[in-house]
Amino acid sequence: MSKIFCIANQKGGVGKTTTAVNLAAGLAKLDQRVLLVDLDPQGNATMGSGIDKAGLNRSTYQVLIGEAAVHEARKVSETGRFDVLPANRELAGAEIEMVEMDRRETRLKAALAAVSDEYDFVLIDCPPALSLLTLNGLCSAHGVIIPMQCEYYALEGLSDLVNTIKRVHANLNNDLQIIGLLRVMFDPRMTLSIQVSDQLEQHFGDKVFKTIIPRNVRLAEAPSHGVPGVSFDPTSRGAKAYVDFGSEMLERIRAMN
Ligand code: ATP
Ligand code: MG
Repeated sequence: MSKIFCIANQKGGVGKTTTAVNLAAGLAKLDQRVLLVDLDPQGNATMGSGIDKAGLNRSTYQVLIGEAAVHEARKVSETGRFDVLPANRELAGAEIEMVEMDRRETRLKAALAAVSDEYDFVLIDCPPALSLLTLNGLCSAHGVIIPMQCEYYALEGLSDLVNTIKRVHANLNNDLQIIGLLRVMFDPRMTLSIQVSDQLEQHFGDKVFKTIIPRNVRLAEAPSHGVPGVSFDPTSRGAKAYVDFGSEMLERIRAMN
C-alpha cells in the first residue's frame, strides 16, 4: 500500500511545488515507485516534470469529477522517472463543480485507492489556499509536509494551517498527521533565517526535518527546462539536499511503522 503525503502551505511561493517535484525525483532515485499528483490549477508540478499542461486530454480535473480513473489520466515524467497525475487551469472548475457532489472532500482519496498497490509514495502538490482542492489532498493523505521559508511572516500563517490539519484529523481523516516542517530557500547569511530556524526547532522539535534546502539557483532554473532540479544538475547543492530529504523521509516512514 502506498504512503500518501500532501505538500501544503496556504502561503504562495514558499516552495511547495519545488519540494513536490524534487522529492518525487529524489525518491525515484532511491528506487521508490512514485506518483506525483498535481492538485493545483497552475499546473506547475506538471510542467516542472516535463509534461505539457496545454495538451492534456485527461487530468486531475476529470479524475475529481468522476470522468476518468487515475490510470487513464496519469503520464510518465521521462525526466524524473516517476508518474504524474497532471493538471491545468481546467482544475479550477472542479472546485466549483464538486461543491454539489456527494462526498466532495474524499473524491481524490477514492480515486487514489485504485492505484494504491502500484506506488510506494503518492505526493500531492497542493494549491496556495485552504480550499476544497487542498481539503481533498488532506483527506487522502497519511501526512503533511509543510515547506517554509525562514522569515518572520512564515510563522504567522502556520497556525491557520496547523488548525486546519487538526480539524481534518478530528472530523474527516484520523490518519492525518504532520510529518514535518521543511526549511526551504534557506540563506545562512541572513541572521533572521537562522533566528526563525532556531525558533522552529524550539517550538516544533522533532517535527522539523533535519535536512535544510538551501536557496540554489539551479533549482529555480530547472522548471523552465521541464526537468526536476534533482536531475537537471545532480551535483548542485539544491539537488543533493532534496535527495538527502528523500532519505530522511524514508527513515521517518520506517520509524512510523
Ligand atoms: P505556489 O504557491 O504559487 O504554488 P509554491 O509554494 O509551489 O508556489 P514554488 O513554485 O516551488 O512555490 O517556488 C516559488 C519560486 O521559488 C519558484 O520560482 C521556484 O523556482 C523558486 N524556488 C523554490 N525553491 C527554491 C530554492 N531552494 N532555491 C531557489 N529558488 C527556489
Ligand atoms: Mg506550487
